Order: sequence, then C-alpha cells, then structure tokens
Amino acid sequence: MSDCIFCKIAKGEIPSELLYENQHVVAFKDINPQAPIHLLVIPKEHIPSATDLTAIQIKELIPEIFTAIHHLVKEFNLDSKGYRIVNNCGQFGGQSVTHLHFHILGGQQLQLSLG
Ligand code: 5GP
Ligand code: ZN
Repeated sequence: MSDCIFCKIAKGEIPSELLYENQHVVAFKDINPQAPIHLLVIPKEHIPSATDLTAIQIKELIPEIFTAIHHLVKEFNLDSKGYRIVNNCGQFGGQSVTHLHFHILGGQQLQLSLG
C-alpha cells in the first residue's frame, strides 16, 4: 500500500532504526512509547490486521514474527522481569495503523487493565 506508513518504514522509504530485519519482518521503536521499551514488529508485506491473515500466513508468517519477538526480548533484556505483547485489531481493538503490528512493551511494571 503506497500510503501506508509501516510499508514505508519496511521499505526504507522513511529512514528508521531497524532493530531486527529478515526477509519477512522488521522491528523498530514506537514513535510514541507507552513504556521505557516499546517496540513494534511488523510483516514487510502489507496485511491490514490479524483478521486478514490467511491460513498460510498464520502458519508461516506468525512464527517469523514470534521469532523476531523472541530475539528482541533477549536483546533488550526483557526476559528476566517480563513484558507484554499486544496486537490491537480493528476499531474496537484500538488499532490506529492498519498494517499488522505487534507491540512489545517492557522496562517497567505494566498496569493490569486490558479493557
Ligand atoms: P496501534 O494503536 O495501531 O495498535 O499502534 C500503532 C502504533 O504505531 C502506535 O503506538 C504509534 O505510536 C505507532 N506509530 C504511528 N506512526 C508511527 C511512525 O511513523 N513511526 C513509528 N516508529 N511508530 C509509529
Ligand atoms: Zn502497510
């Protein structure tokens, strides 16, 4: 999608510090962090939300995303004290950027409220 901000970051059209990259996914810092460490992991391919994942993407792409998350958790030393993985999906889920992304939040005690 030509006007998608995360597609532009994935393609390097908006210069960003990429914290993890392979053929399928990239990760970078959230521009408006909600915790001391707030990272975003996205597929390079434009997929609007989790609802739009195909069966093949669930089988092949989601493991790539969680491999990236696993790598970043270790790199940012989040494994000892814990962290949160968040995917907001659609309007009621509070999704504001319609390119699938997983938040990793950590570095402090997070609030328990989920709703
Ligand atoms: P959502 O609310 O869709 O789950 O999360 C979107 C996230 O993307 C927000 O936390 C927001 O701060 C972040 N974000 C929006 N635009 C940009 C951008 O241009 N660069 C980066 N690094 N993060 C962005
Ligand atoms: Zn996109």
